[in-house]
Amino acid sequence: MSSNLNFSFNGKNAIITGGAQGIGFQIALQFLTAGANVSIWDYSADALEKAKSELGKFSGQLHTAQVDVTNRESCQKAVASLPWNVDILVNNAGITRDKSFAKLGAEEWDAVINTNLTGLFNVTKNLFEKFNASSSHKRIINISSVVGLYGNFGQANYAAAKAGVIGMTKTLGKELGRKGFTVNAVAPGFIMTAMTKAMPKEVLEQMAGKVPVARLGETSDIANACLFLASEQASYINGTVISVDGGIVL
Ligand code: NDP
Repeated sequence: MSSNLNFSFNGKNAIITGGAQGIGFQIALQFLTAGANVSIWDYSADALEKAKSELGKFSGQLHTAQVDVTNRESCQKAVASLPWNVDILVNNAGITRDKSFAKLGAEEWDAVINTNLTGLFNVTKNLFEKFNASSSHKRIINISSVVGLYGNFGQANYAAAKAGVIGMTKTLGKELGRKGFTVNAVAPGFIMTAMTKAMPKEVLEQMAGKVPVARLGETSDIANACLFLASEQASYINGTVISVDGGIVL
């Protein structure tokens, strides 16, 4: 077994949901850079177009599909559009609709559960038959959250969905291990995306002050964990959750 950590995914095919922006975009970029073919599945046609243009130099390795992960028919169509079989799936698409429990309505509950948990079922179920049957190197990586492990004020819907992601990860890890899969979750802490970068500097500094490593996370922190979990070197890691949060809950 090689101990080279400059991961190479030449000849591997990855799907990243919610990959047109934020964390998912960085995951897609790093898999492309490491030689994988990547299919980005995302909701908005505009965001997909923008991602495609930013990733222009990888056009030969890139496929995109406009998908609503909450919609099973949409997932089926995306599967049918795939030009290749699948080795690596990163279930990353997710939304928040934060409200304290007293104010939380059925609409916010349904939207978050449907996207962050049922969406993961819809995508994984529809793609299942598209994984390379003969490969012993099949990877499913689910993006959960530190909130799924510890809860958070105003996020009952999100915490429930992200905890559900962890339960599903462990169960699939048990069920699919013999079939050549590993299934793991990554639980990000507070990660800087375009949205968070627009927040006032003092607020960001205050938040960073709560993290033992004294900084907020970068999207590359999450992408690095995903590439590691997808690598051959991580083949004995299965059914676990890797927290990538700078130790925020310590
Ligand atoms: P972003 O909003 O930047 O990106 C999420 C992407 O998912 C967007 O492109 C969004 O599209 C897409 N998406 C949303 N709903 C659907 C849908 N129904 N079908 C297809 N695509 C959809 O979020 P982040 O990059 O911040 O988050 C990525 C993941 O990481 C999420 O699962 C999130 O819960 C998790 N996470 C993020 C943390 C953070 O601090 N940023 C912390 C912990 C976990 P559109 O914008 O067009 O709706």
